[in-house]
Amino acid sequence: MNTSENFGSTTNLNNLSQDEFPYSEEPNTIQNTVLSRKNSLSCSLEELGVQKRYFCNYCEKCVTNFGRHLMTVHRTENEVTSILKYPKGNPLRLKKIATLRNEFQFKYNSNPNINNGKIIVKRRPNLQKNRNGKHYKICPSCKQMYSILSLRVHYSKCCKEDSSTRSSMVKSKQAQMSVHKDASKRLIKFVLANCRNDEVIEEILFDDLCIDYGNKLCRTYRTNEQHNGMIRTRLREMGKFLIEIKKQNKNIFQLKDVLLPEHYDTIINAINAVAGYDEDTGVYNAPSTAYNLGLHVKQITQQLQTLYIREANVEKRSAVADLICLMNEGFRTDINKTVSENQCLKRRHKKILLPTAEDINALKTFLDKEKDLERLKGF
Ligand SMILES: [Zn+2]
Ligand SMILES: [Zn+2]
Repeated sequence: MNTSENFGSTTNLNNLSQDEFPYSEEPNTIQNTVLSRKNSLSCSLEELGVQKRYFCNYCEKCVTNFGRHLMTVHRTENEVTSILKYPKGNPLRLKKIATLRNEFQFKYNSNPNINNGKIIVKRRPNLQKNRNGKHYKICPSCKQMYSILSLRVHYSKCCKEDSSTRSSMVKSKQAQMSVHKDASKRLIKFVLANCRNDEVIEEILFDDLCIDYGNKLCRTYRTNEQHNGMIRTRLREMGKFLIEIKKQNKNIFQLKDVLLPEHYDTIINAINAVAGYDEDTGVYNAPSTAYNLGLHVKQITQQLQTLYIREANVEKRSAVADLICLMNEGFRTDINKTVSENQCLKRRHKKILLPTAEDINALKTFLDKEKDLERLKGF
């Protein structure tokens, strides 16, 4: 066996230094490679125990010895001829083969049509540990799948960057983000990649309207990075709202399904549930959430209306216009009035500690002394 081209072993790659990893592209350049939700969250691993295999993008097959396969089957391909210029065993030749192999592996892992829900990981998992696809994350630099536990150590070696667990995870999420295909680069990179991964955010990742709303907010507040947190909060509020809507009506799958006049009551109930409205006392636990959600939902409905105008869908447009009418009139009485009353009540009940007479006297004496000193300096 020609060991110089035998890439069946993972150790060859791990010994390569930073220069030997030529991937320097920003992770966001591949953000539009959308992994299917199934693929990224619950894919099974390559059959455990089977000899490690590598994907060849030219013939779309998995092979055991990638280097030898290239040299024997694909000698005429442009990339391969550039590799053949170097003699066997030359470090540059090894580096080029490794680069091509990583590129093909990434193509395989990110395309559910090729991989059928299976991923090829860098190191075969321990049979006893019973791992699944959730345990593996992509290295933002070399685009290979590593276990969550080893990603940080690998990433710092791979791109010689001082990487905290958080920064490598955020970059990994940017590269691997499983999200709606219309999500803008900015939305993924600065907003969604920094979000906590939970069911609230999962709710909006594949929702047409929520993603459209997120994109619009990113376009509106593009100059100031401080607004990213605000956008994140708004999207999380919409995620909670959508969860409540789905609890109340099992036939609703997307946000736009609920934005119809006949669902007005469902919308109000969902807003009340998210903001913790107490029927008995008539008090919101979080009045500002109720007010904000009302605003977001109204903005999104207007956005949907412009979408239907562009599509020249008269029927749906007029239905959405009716809902906007209901909201303009109804939110004032159904939400906003209670919100302002609650806030007023909270302000009235808020205890304000006033300074004692002694403290005020002490301050007065201090200020008088300061004034005298200033006056003396003036002479
Ligand atoms: Zn091939
Ligand atoms: Zn890497």
